[in-house]
Order: sequence, then C-alpha cells, then structure tokens
Amino acid sequence: MTSAPFDRLKQVAGPGGWVDQPADLTAYLTEWRGNFHGTAELVLRPSTTQQVAEIVKICAETGTAIVPQGGNTGLCGGAVAERGSVIVSLSRLNKVRSIDIQTNTMVVEAGVILGDIQRVAADHDRLFPLSLAAEGSCQIGGALSTNAGGVGVLRYGNARELALGVEVVLPDGTVFDGLTQLRKNNTGYDLRDLFIGAEGTLGIITAAVLKLYAQPKSRVTAFVALPSCADVTRLLTALHGQVGEMVSLFEGMNRLSLQTVCNYLGGAQDPFAGPSPWYALIELTSAVRDLDLAAQLESALAEAFEQGMIIDAVIAQNDTQAQNLKRLREEISDAQRPLGTAIRHDIAVPLSAVPDFVEQASAAVAAAEPGARIFAFGHFGDGNIHFNVSQPADQDGAAHLARLEEISGIVHDVSDKLGGSFSAEHGVGLLKIADMQRYKSPIELDLMRRLKGAIDPAGIMNPGKILPLASR
Ligand SMILES: Cc1cc2nc3c(=O)[nH]c(=O)nc-3n(C[C@H](O)[C@H](O)[C@H](O)COP(=O)(O)OP(=O)(O)OC[C@H]3O[C@@H](n4cnc5c(N)ncnc54)[C@H](O)[C@@H]3O)c2cc1C
Repeated sequence: MTSAPFDRLKQVAGPGGWVDQPADLTAYLTEWRGNFHGTAELVLRPSTTQQVAEIVKICAETGTAIVPQGGNTGLCGGAVAERGSVIVSLSRLNKVRSIDIQTNTMVVEAGVILGDIQRVAADHDRLFPLSLAAEGSCQIGGALSTNAGGVGVLRYGNARELALGVEVVLPDGTVFDGLTQLRKNNTGYDLRDLFIGAEGTLGIITAAVLKLYAQPKSRVTAFVALPSCADVTRLLTALHGQVGEMVSLFEGMNRLSLQTVCNYLGGAQDPFAGPSPWYALIELTSAVRDLDLAAQLESALAEAFEQGMIIDAVIAQNDTQAQNLKRLREEISDAQRPLGTAIRHDIAVPLSAVPDFVEQASAAVAAAEPGARIFAFGHFGDGNIHFNVSQPADQDGAAHLARLEEISGIVHDVSDKLGGSFSAEHGVGLLKIADMQRYKSPIELDLMRRLKGAIDPAGIMNPGKILPLASR
C-alpha cells in the first residue's frame, strides 16, 4: 500500500473529512467490548453520497479495502479495520432529508443517530419504533447493516421490516438509488434486502426510507414474577389472546439476572418481597388517548394468576416507576461485569422452544463448567435469549474465557438442535465466522459466496467479515 491512494482519498474527503493521527484514530479502532483492535491508518469522513461514491471508485481502482463504520457499537467486530484498509465513517452523512406524515415515511442519511431519528419522528407525532440500548450512539446505517432488533421487534419488527428502501454505493462506486416510498412493489428481486443485514460486505448504505407509526398515547408497564421459564412464554401467549398487538414489549429474565442487577444498581429495589425463579417485563401501548390499559393488563394478569402462571405482579403507577422497572432489564449486561469474565450469546429459537433451550443449555453448561453463573434474559417475546455465562466465583477469569469456543459450541449446538440461530440480532462480523461454517448449510454458504462474488468481485468491501476468508 503506497501513500498515493491515501493522498487521493484525503483530497476527495476534503478538509475535516479525514483522520490519520494515532490519538484521533483510537475511537475508530476500538471495538465496543474490546475483543478486537483495528490497525487501519486512515478514516475517511465523507459528508455527501457523491463523496462516498468517489472514495469507493478510487478504492476499487487501487484495490484498497473499505470498512464502513457507523457508531462503532456493533458487538461482533464487523467494523474492525486492518492496516492497509480505510474506514469510511458515515458520521457526517447525518441529515434527515425529509419526513412525510401522510405516507408515514422519513428519508434519512446513514449517519443519523438512531435516537435523533426517534426524536424527529416524535416531534411530528410519529413513532420510529427501532429501540436498543445503544440508540444514543449507533447510526441508522449501522442498525440496518446489522439488521438490529432491540425491544420493539415483537410488535414492529426488526430494522429490515422498518425500511422501505435504501440508497447504496456499490463496490465499483456506482450509486444504487433504491429510495422507494412504496409499500407494494413486486417487480423482481428485492435488492433492498440484500444490503440490509450485509454488515457492509456488499456496499455502503448512504440513506434509507424508514417507516413511521402512530405515537403511543396510552401506556402501562408491569413487572411480573413467575414460577418457571415455561410460564414466561405461556404468559405471552395468554396476553396476546387478551390484548393482542397492544403488547409492545415483553422481556424475560431469570432470578440471577434480577438479583445481580439489583445489587449493581444499589438503590434499585427488587419489586417483590421474596425471590421467584423467573420474571417478565411487560408494556402495553396504544395510539388511543386515555385508554385504561392498566385495567386491561390487571384483568389479564389476574386470570394468569388464577391459572398458576404467575406468582406476583407490580404495575407502574407513573413514568418514574415505569422507567425504574425498565432499568432492571436494561442494566443486566453491565451488571454482569463486576462478576468477572463472561461468555456471551445472542441466540434465537422458536418461542415454543424457549423453555427447552434454557433447560438444556443450562444443564449442558453446568456439566461442562460447574459453578459457572448463567444469566438468561432478553427479548423473550421474539424467542431471543441473551444467554451469558459468567466465570465461576472461585476461578480465574482468563481460564473461563479460554473455554469460549467450547462453551459457545455447547450453547449454539442446543440452539441449532431446536431449530434456532447462533446470532439473533447482533450479526456475524468477525466473531461468529466459525459458526457460519458450522451451522449454515453448504447451499446457504454457496449462495452467499456467489452473491458476494457477483456484487464485489474484487472483494474490497469489508473483507474477512461474515464469510470465511478462504471462500471469498
Ligand atoms: C449497549 C449496547 C446494546 C445493544 N443492544 C442491541 C439490541 O438490543 N439489539 C440489537 O440488535 N443490537 C444491539 N446492539 C448492537 C447493535 O448491532 C448496534 O448497536 C447497532 O445496530 C450497530 O450500529 P452502529 O452504527 O454502531 O454500527 P457499527 O458498529 O459501526 O457497524 C456495524 C456493522 O455494520 C457495518 N456498517 C455500519 N454502517 C454501515 C453503512 N452505512 N453501510 C454499510 N455497512 C455499514 C459495519 O461495517 C459493521 O459491519 C447493542 C450494542 C450495544 C453497545
């Protein structure tokens, strides 16, 4: 790699459009969890789609690898860049191009922060329902590229289902303008879906058309204690029967998760007097103003109580109480850190298989590593469990982490056996490439490789991610 392409790239990016000083590069090279460290020496920060296209053309011409980067909050190392490659940060491509409350759509550039999109939608009395703990930092381009999920999937779907169209700079520098506002358009292959979830391996998303929804006007939040994991899934089914799509959030967690988060938050109170094996956080919302959702939820929970499905429940009486209940779920990941090292998983199984997964995976991990502490929590309504294994209290953290491949193999095998996925919402990146080889069928891998080869024959777009190196 000579400096010549880098000089040309800097010129295109213009003043303020690139970063190459080691101190300034650190934030772009540091992966959120610290599992990977990049070594790239140049970050480009274009501010228009045209600039992105010119940058990609030079990279195509010079064989320079490109790593697109959004907020760098991805959890699988997808935005990590090696020496010789360039990071294309979308941070300055951050305009809301338009919002249309009649078609209920919003056109945004890839670098707009997810939380800002939610706020602009709310200012127009609309909801953009994609919501996750990283929403203050992650960008919509990154969220689409990882097909992010979060807490709104149960009712509104994941990022893929929230986008009508995308604008993409392809690996040869041409611009695919797929910014359609259409909700119906059966005219051949769905090209949009190729780029959503591709983790930057097929092109750089520069803009998207997003779907908007009615802003909720009534809301109720509850925290419920249950005797078993099977009761958590049964309760969701019962709630769907009673209040249908008004269930907009349904998260589950085991006792260890709640106990640990209460200790971690210090002031936070366990909502209940005594311990229970399982818990669920529930929220109902409606666009209808002044709807008595608390009464609806109370009646549904009373019925569940009579059937022995729940042990106890608290219903938030105001916004502060609701936020406090939600923190008990949001902070679980961070609350685990003081317990030492953790091997984290993001699996999904069909909802009916959630109890089997938890039982079988817990038993298999306990047999392999006695004393390991298991946190099972997450988006249970979507069958998505964050199954995190913290080191045994009396053991060395490094020794626990050294067993990552073995423990993850055990957990992912159980998920696979139950018809599940080894990555529900975080993607593949660098972290789960070996799982792609292990769990994807040869036909799926072959089709993916052929798509990659057809769209990016030179292999310059985020090389080494998703698909094993040898097969690119
Ligand atoms: C605290 C925390 C909580 C999280 N919670 C959730 C959750 O509940 N649900 C969930 O699904 N995820 C969650 N995540 C991970 C989630 O994937 C990211 O937060 C987010 O979706 C990634 O956006 P980003 O802008 O940070 O992308 P980055 O991390 O910068 O990039 C992620 C991938 O997308 C590619 N990419 C980025 N921008 C573009 C673009 N414009 N065009 C093409 N490729 C691009 C990158 O090359 C990389 O492969 C969480 C992460 C954190 C740190």
